[in-house]
Amino acid sequence: MKFGGTSVKDAEAFSRVAGIVSNQKDDIPIVVTSAMAKVTDALLDAFEIAKNGNSGDAFSSLEEHFERHKAVAEELFDKPRQTAFLAELDLAKEELSGLLLRVERRSLPLQMLKDAIVSYGEQLASRLLAEVCKAKGLNARQVDSRRVIVTDDEYGSAKPIWDETEKFIQLELNTLLEANEIPIMGGFIASNRSGETTTLGRGGSDYSAALVGAALRAKEIQIWTDVTGVLTCDPRICSDARTIDVLSYDEAAELAYFGAKVLHPKTIQPAVDYEIPVRVCNSHQPAERGTMVLAESEIAPNRIKSIAHKTGITILRISSARMLGSYGFMSALFQVFDRFRTVIDVISTSEVSVALTLDNTDSLDKVVKELERLGDIEIEHENAVICVVGEGLRASSGLASKIFSTIEDINISLISHGASSVNLTFVVKEEKVGEVIKRLHESFF
Ligand code: ADP
Ligand code: ASP
Ligand code: MG
Repeated sequence: MKFGGTSVKDAEAFSRVAGIVSNQKDDIPIVVTSAMAKVTDALLDAFEIAKNGNSGDAFSSLEEHFERHKAVAEELFDKPRQTAFLAELDLAKEELSGLLLRVERRSLPLQMLKDAIVSYGEQLASRLLAEVCKAKGLNARQVDSRRVIVTDDEYGSAKPIWDETEKFIQLELNTLLEANEIPIMGGFIASNRSGETTTLGRGGSDYSAALVGAALRAKEIQIWTDVTGVLTCDPRICSDARTIDVLSYDEAAELAYFGAKVLHPKTIQPAVDYEIPVRVCNSHQPAERGTMVLAESEIAPNRIKSIAHKTGITILRISSARMLGSYGFMSALFQVFDRFRTVIDVISTSEVSVALTLDNTDSLDKVVKELERLGDIEIEHENAVICVVGEGLRASSGLASKIFSTIEDINISLISHGASSVNLTFVVKEEKVGEVIKRLHESFF
């Protein structure tokens, strides 16, 4: 059972979560929690302030969030439990203050310090949740996720080393489960082989839950959030977006990858590996079934299940007469992206040109410099990828025509269709994304 930041944003929310866990206690749950809402952002901001030379201000900027943790303890705990938690909070504050000072002085690698600092969100939330559960009479115990999830050294988006992670999760958690204890873990945080704290990438608590679920061959992986399941589109764009009953792993993976924030893109793979159902449900409405993500799903009557989108996309176009009728060109092109660890999302080629989209442009200058050896480069910023998802989409006739005629007056700069059987992806200018999704949603749903 994984609870996101808004599900643990204050005392009332913590209480609600303990109630949801209690209702499932006979099914032997394992709980994974995110940091309280806004805490990860605040820790990252504090890191930046310290980096700019002011660790004192950085620490002060966190005060309101320390107070929020304290308020939960004061509202929900008796005196002894309160005192114990506040002592831990004080210790965490002291450690954070030391880490921020190290950032200012650059006394350790910054990326390493950043992960150490940001991990306090999940460390504190899991401590609090364990205590809230105990205060409600549950036999809960906090587990430090950094002892069980082992990753490589890529701070900020570390990759789990599966064999070791699986073994440690089984060893540590099975012992607790046999003793009838409910493990309460922080999501998102892990450690490398030398024991330094790492993190799995923003929104990574979903992934932590999937890793734990897979390692223990769980009956179900539950992602508890602030909306009732995966919806037909981002509810911040269409307030009438509806809950989808069942999605296939393929559909959910495409949606997550192309921006449906409700699931972290890496969540699905561990579930697929052991065919574990994933349920996305609402901690504010626990009685609702939410969305089930399963190996297979039915084709929707209108053949489309949902529309995802991702903004902040850059298009690169490479044109070169050398490409005509020659081989090895694509390989040379991909090697450049490989060298600078830059992920390509959508790609489309003609005889003498290739267009592709990038989400992360950290190494764009270096990539472009190298690509200039292969051909002429054009760069277009501020685009958005829109991904229409549904099982059987590739095999449907007339669907592309319906999609594009709905938005016939809007310029589409790239289309990808057919690579996967469940999606049709295209790129429009960022400023058009709201309008495009509203029109498609109205037309299909
Ligand atoms: P949590 O803190 O629980 O991990 P997130 O903020 O990461 O929650 O994800 C939930 C949010 O994802 C929702 O509040 C919603 O605004 C957004 N979202 C975007 N696209 C979708 C979608 N297709 N279905 C459901 N939620 C979506
Ligand atoms: N707290 C982390 C974040 O905000 C991880 C998560 O919530 O899933 O990115
Ligand atoms: Mg999330």
